[in-house]
Amino acid sequence: MGDLQILIVEDSFSDRELYKRFLKRNGYCFDIYEAERAADGIAYSREHDFDCVILDFNLPDADGLDFITTFKEESRDPDGAIVMVTGQGSEETAVEAMKSGAADYITKNNINNGFFLHTILNAIERAQLRRKVRDYQEYLEQSNKALSEFAHTVSHDLKAPLRRLIAFCDLLEEECSDSLDDKGRNYVERITANAWRMQKFIDDLLAFSRVLHGHEKYELLDMNNLVKEILDDIEPLIQESGARITVDDLPPVPVYPTKIRQLFLNLITNAIKYHGESDPLIRISCEDSNGHYTFVVEDNGQGIAPEYQKDIFKAFERLHSNDAVEGTGLGLSICQKVVEMHKGRIWVESEVGAGSRFYFSLPKEKPVLLDQEEVGKQPEKVEIEDSIQIA
Ligand code: ADP
Repeated sequence: MGDLQILIVEDSFSDRELYKRFLKRNGYCFDIYEAERAADGIAYSREHDFDCVILDFNLPDADGLDFITTFKEESRDPDGAIVMVTGQGSEETAVEAMKSGAADYITKNNINNGFFLHTILNAIERAQLRRKVRDYQEYLEQSNKALSEFAHTVSHDLKAPLRRLIAFCDLLEEECSDSLDDKGRNYVERITANAWRMQKFIDDLLAFSRVLHGHEKYELLDMNNLVKEILDDIEPLIQESGARITVDDLPPVPVYPTKIRQLFLNLITNAIKYHGESDPLIRISCEDSNGHYTFVVEDNGQGIAPEYQKDIFKAFERLHSNDAVEGTGLGLSICQKVVEMHKGRIWVESEVGAGSRFYFSLPKEKPVLLDQEEVGKQPEKVEIEDSIQIA
């Protein structure tokens, strides 16, 4: 690792000298830049990447909070750590500074060699970790996007020849049926069935990629309307299966609307698909728990044995063969991804032969981003050597 790049923004000459002594005394290699005024510090930060800015709160031309705001907007590397140095009794200001993006603070009355260096190195290490996480996230997002675009294109490209394959099978059945014997007709039927299966697989893969990478905004969604729309859309399936579906009054929840739509759709169609001896009886309800709502999709279907109840949420995991019930094994893994995106949880309670209850919880409020949760975190306690009072 090269020398650590440090910018000291401090109008007091004696304080700057003291900070430099603290830094140099410990055998670390620092490249130190100095600025007396906020404007000069910002000018440096536009030209140069700094691992850490040691920032005095009271500067002649601005206060520390203004500096942080401008630094975050204009510097070449806004992820560089900022450690605020404040006067006596100004912890509240320091906490404000941390809320604005400072990594830590030191009060001038208890500044000392070990504590000072420890705070600076700690802030630098956290900033470097944040950078690594951000770079890794960017890399993951890029590769996920590329993969998703690839899956999307391939799926689309596959759909057209598949449609043609199905169309020619239909023609073969309609126009050439007389010239085929039973064996030939059976082969055509099987080709058609497999082509439809492939079509469903492609549709589910596209839904999966849309759920993972489709961008949309959080929105307070009327769940009653949403479920009503879904039931209208699948009316033919409901009619055909003889399903009776009751829907309790559902609360509005802040969510990604199309993703939650896909979640409900998958759970409701599964409740119909995996019916038992009698016609499907399905109830959709919601319980109000602490800080979140728990939605329930309950059926009287075949049920799931306890040993399989975790596995069914994994991609491509199926308990039924395609001959018994058609499917791709992607539906519940989509549901799980959607719920995770909303910082919720999904699980099932079920008894073979009696039916299943699929639960998923959603926070009542839009979840706070992790970065924001970290704001206001208190600095670690360290052994404090003899204090040196700074004038
Ligand atoms: P698919 O329905 O395409 O197979 P899913 O991921 O939606 O994929 O479901 C995975 C498996 O979980 C299904 O194959 C089925 O065996 C089981 N399953 C899902 N929902 C139910 C349900 N409501 N009742 C009984 N079994 C279910």
